[in-house]
Amino acid sequence: MTLPSEGHDLVKSERKEAGCTEDGHEEYWQCSKCHRFFSDEEGNTRISEPKVISKTGHSLKKVEKKEASCTESGYEAYWKCQNETCQRLFSDEGGKTGINQPKEIKATGHKYEEPAYIWSADNLKCNAERKCTACDDVEMETADATVTVVQEKNCILPELTMFHVTFKNDVFEGQTKENVKTAEATGHDLEKVEKKVANCTESGHEGYWKCQTCEKFFSDEIGTAEISNPIEIKATGHNLEKVEKKAASCTETGYEEYWKCQTCGKLFSDEAGTDEIASLDDIQIPAKGHEEGNEWLSDAEKHWKECAVCQEKTEEADHVYVNETDTVCEICGYERTIKSEVPEILEGHNGKWQMNSGKTLSFRSSAPFAEFISVTIDDVVVDEKNYDKAEGSTIITLHPEFLSTLSVGTHTLSIDSASGSAATEFTIEEATAEPSITETPSVTPTTAPSATTAPSATTASTAATVTPTPTASPETKAPKTGDESNVAIWMLLLFLSAEGIIVALQKSKKKTR
Ligand SMILES: [Zn+2]
Ligand SMILES: [Zn+2]
Ligand SMILES: [Zn+2]
Ligand SMILES: [Zn+2]
Ligand SMILES: [Zn+2]
Ligand SMILES: [Zn+2]
Ligand SMILES: [Zn+2]
Repeated sequence: MTLPSEGHDLVKSERKEAGCTEDGHEEYWQCSKCHRFFSDEEGNTRISEPKVISKTGHSLKKVEKKEASCTESGYEAYWKCQNETCQRLFSDEGGKTGINQPKEIKATGHKYEEPAYIWSADNLKCNAERKCTACDDVEMETADATVTVVQEKNCILPELTMFHVTFKNDVFEGQTKENVKTAEATGHDLEKVEKKVANCTESGHEGYWKCQTCEKFFSDEIGTAEISNPIEIKATGHNLEKVEKKAASCTETGYEEYWKCQTCGKLFSDEAGTDEIASLDDIQIPAKGHEEGNEWLSDAEKHWKECAVCQEKTEEADHVYVNETDTVCEICGYERTIKSEVPEILEGHNGKWQMNSGKTLSFRSSAPFAEFISVTIDDVVVDEKNYDKAEGSTIITLHPEFLSTLSVGTHTLSIDSASGSAATEFTIEEATAEPSITETPSVTPTTAPSATTAPSATTASTAATVTPTPTASPETKAPKTGDESNVAIWMLLLFLSAEGIIVALQKSKKKTR
């Protein structure tokens, strides 16, 4: 600075800006000697005092109230001076009450609803949850349940189980689910017990059903009507019928009167049915036995005595003789008349045997076998090799080889025994199926050929085959001469009788052999 001539010593004061609450001033100068003020640095323009720059006042801006949340605090509305150099805070619009900081509104904290507890379908887990009504914050915890069966299942009751959970978070209370049905009742395992019919002394019962598990009784098949015991069917008692006393006879036992149950068949000796008897033997009345007479009675075959009570025959037996000629019974004195018995043929009367049949021919004599002597045919004794003899009384069976040597016709057979001979006729018949039989009728009418009829029959058959049939027949059939045919027949007959004689001779030879 340059000092003016007058000699002021000017000191500059810099411009001072005005504040919100304090005035400022323009730049000025002041003399340190005379303390005068000047608006220029040369000291030309003197001023009474520095030119004031008026204070501005605060430039307030409102900051709106901020609400607190559950977890965050807020603040009341306030005003802040926008001036760079001030920036002070005020609780009022007019900027009168300065504050150091906004007035805080405390955080509210969550406002939870009551917790909700949700069990899983199987009740093994439970989920606890609560929610803040203000901020939707959720607290949650899942816990495993402890499982306790409080009732075992049986025929009629289901299985009941208790589930319980506790939570680590204290805000959640322990939860319990009681009597949860975890299994159905098994139902009765019924088995039918058939009706038992009562008898005389033992009671029975109606049919019923019994549970194999709980052993309860039921009167129905589905086990709804329980009964304490099977329904008894009382014993019927005996149905007694009296059987009158039966007196004993000579040979048959009798019995005392007794009572028999018509139902069970048991026997009792009393009307009340208390004294049972095992069998009628216990009340038997023994047989008295016959009261034998002393006299022997008899007929031609036997002798016997008679009971005086029942007239039954006793000691009946055949008469006893010392030998075959003895006529008086050793026991009873019966006298017999002995008639000598001549044996007779019992079987094989007029027997027939056919040539070439290969069969045997049998005869039976009534003579005892021991008395057998011989067999004769046509009064000739037959060699024993030609027959079999057997006992019963005497049976003779002629061999076929022997029979075939006999002539066709009737013979007489005799079985000779010590007591006599039994005789019968028998017939040897010619073999069947001979073609010549057609010729026989032409022969038969002629009764001429004498001797026995049998030989003629035999010869007829043999002759017919051999004889001059060829010559005879054409002549016979020729209508002209009846004489010629008659001659032929006579010729034939002559021939035949000659044959017959030859055969008869042969036969007699054989017999003697
Ligand atoms: Zn001055
Ligand atoms: Zn201010
Ligand atoms: Zn909240
Ligand atoms: Zn049961
Ligand atoms: Zn009975
Ligand atoms: Zn008697
Ligand atoms: Zn006698």
